[in-house]
Amino acid sequence: LVSRDNHPERSTVRVGGVPIGPGTVTLIAGPCAVETPQQTLDAAEMAKAAGATLLRGGAYKPRTSPYAFQGLGEAGLRILADVREQTGLPVVTEVVDAHDVELVASYADMLQVGTRNAQNFALLQAVGRIGKPVMLKRGMNATIEEWLMAAEYIAQRGNLDIVLCERGIRTFETATRNTLDVSAVPVVQRLSHLPVIIDPSHSGGRRDLVLPLTRAAIAVGADGVIIDVHPRPEQALCDGPQALVDGDLPELARVVREFPPLV
Ligand code: PEP
Repeated sequence: LVSRDNHPERSTVRVGGVPIGPGTVTLIAGPCAVETPQQTLDAAEMAKAAGATLLRGGAYKPRTSPYAFQGLGEAGLRILADVREQTGLPVVTEVVDAHDVELVASYADMLQVGTRNAQNFALLQAVGRIGKPVMLKRGMNATIEEWLMAAEYIAQRGNLDIVLCERGIRTFETATRNTLDVSAVPVVQRLSHLPVIIDPSHSGGRRDLVLPLTRAAIAVGADGVIIDVHPRPEQALCDGPQALVDGDLPELARVVREFPPLV
């Protein structure tokens, strides 16, 4: 279902009216985690100033350590819905448990399945059934074939509104948190009709790499980028070191605006 063999035209997925697909470079930005109403609103205003048309923000955070901030849950979803109301930005947010899909979908415009759940087949089937657009991150240890088969689980339940997101894979390299596989973009675009975006924040894990990797993403033909921004990253409860700050926004806006899409 996700293969380009039977569907030669590349697809566009619409999220609250915002297109992700060929001919556009969609900027999704916002905080890694929803922490407070003010922090989320400030981050959303930053995202908008940089030209973002979709707001990201996690209310359910799949953290490596069980002692790390796990997200605000439904209270975080309510904050996202309020900030959507105030800014007009449709919301992309992660769901980590098949039992929460209905709840998260009642607030979100697009459901995110994260790298740690990329082969959680019960979750994939549940987001397939709910009928909202889904952003499927690549498993950090997944081959492209495994990633596309994960997308197939969603599609098989009747949902073809899937955006694939390359967010870096595990390699022997330790200088970056993950190794961004830019070659995944043209490879996947040849194999599948689904849009492919890049997450330069979670791949590098470092603020100084976000803009260079964004340039790489756009140059290689990605259909969009998803980027962490935070008004006060030194106080962030999650992934502060990779969040762009106010001073980075003009350059982010320029990078996204000035690189024309290749397709
Ligand atoms: C995220 O985008 O908030 C996230 C946790 O990303 P990943 O699943 O790629 O680690």
